[in-house]
Amino acid sequence: MRKPIIAGNWKMNKTAKEAAQFIIELRDKVKDANCEVVVCPPFTSLTQVLTLVEDTNIEVGAQNMHYEENGAFTGEISPVMLKELGVKYVILGHSERRMYFKEDDELINKKVKSAFIHGLTPILCVGELLEEREAGKTFEVIDKQLIEDLKDVDSENVAKMVIAYEPVWAIGTGKTATAEDANEVIKYIRGKIREMFGEKAAEEIRIQYGGSVKPSTIKEQMEQSDIDGALVGGASLKVEDFAAIVNY
Ligand code: PEP
Repeated sequence: MRKPIIAGNWKMNKTAKEAAQFIIELRDKVKDANCEVVVCPPFTSLTQVLTLVEDTNIEVGAQNMHYEENGAFTGEISPVMLKELGVKYVILGHSERRMYFKEDDELINKKVKSAFIHGLTPILCVGELLEEREAGKTFEVIDKQLIEDLKDVDSENVAKMVIAYEPVWAIGTGKTATAEDANEVIKYIRGKIREMFGEKAAEEIRIQYGGSVKPSTIKEQMEQSDIDGALVGGASLKVEDFAAIVNY
């Protein structure tokens, strides 16, 4: 049985003080959640947040990382630095990184492999643009991303990781994919993982839906056969909303 996982991607929001206040308010409200609860703050709040979630059911993820351990990469953060802090997850390949920071599948693949080497669990984001969906290319886009982003990753690691299916047209737009449409693509992703990495990886990998998830949409999404959780952006910034989503 796959344990559902709901993660909040705060993006470039909340100072360390605001993050601390948020976690203090959140802790009690999510303590009985039946899913794994993850928050992904900006790097500057990780230490504060990690201290405040000790002895709670909240896990912490980073929103990005470099693939090298150290070196002359001004402004970057390494997997070793994240691991030492106690970070468990790292979001990789988010569409905002692909779009605004020109991250391509080759780079994302290096990051995915590095995350595993350093004991971090990737939350790998994949998804199509609106024009790709309208041109009937959704599955083609997903195939390319999975093949290239997971190149040379072994099946034991794939089984442990998380994929977030995030149709780009649904991110931050208020437009949610219908639960059935999201499930159809997620089922397809699981099938592709089966083809590439075998039955065990396909059955164990957790695949989230992401794109304008709200308290009013989560229940139906979680009732679908293949949706194992959610990656939540905007609605993860308010304690009440994120707690309602996690306690769906
Ligand atoms: C995201 O950032 O991964 C996301 C899904 O954002 P939103 O929920 O705001 O659409």
